[in-house]
Amino acid sequence: MAEETIFSKIIRKEIPADIVYEDELVTAFRDISPRAPTHILIIPNKLIPTVNDVTADDEATMGRMFTVARKLAEQEGVSEDGYRLLVNCNKHGGQEVYHIHMHLVGGRPLGPMLVG
Ligand code: 5GP
Repeated sequence: MAEETIFSKIIRKEIPADIVYEDELVTAFRDISPRAPTHILIIPNKLIPTVNDVTADDEATMGRMFTVARKLAEQEGVSEDGYRLLVNCNKHGGQEVYHIHMHLVGGRPLGPMLVG
């Protein structure tokens, strides 16, 4: 059984976060340390530590992460100019929190650099 992270506490609202979207599969909230005017994390409500742990059972949830990203990008007004969706995996990928999350980053030109 994977160890819970601070993100499980955010989903359960045991610690505060600026939650911008939630449904039965995913929760989205603003990154505590934003690297751009829009920096939102979209996470599954189910604890999946890394991309390496994703299975076929998670396909609906993974798809929902993308449709929510698209909606939030529209709400944030970054759709037309563009934005970046990023999922870090493990140490070399720069993953810090072991509850899979998609970064939605936009609101400025991002260049070739990565988040993290
Ligand atoms: P990673 O490096 O794992 O891909 O990204 C983890 C992200 O989670 C970082 O951008 C970091 O700023 C964010 N983060 C870490 N702890 C918290 C927290 O307690 N609240 C929020 N809103 N974001 C967090």
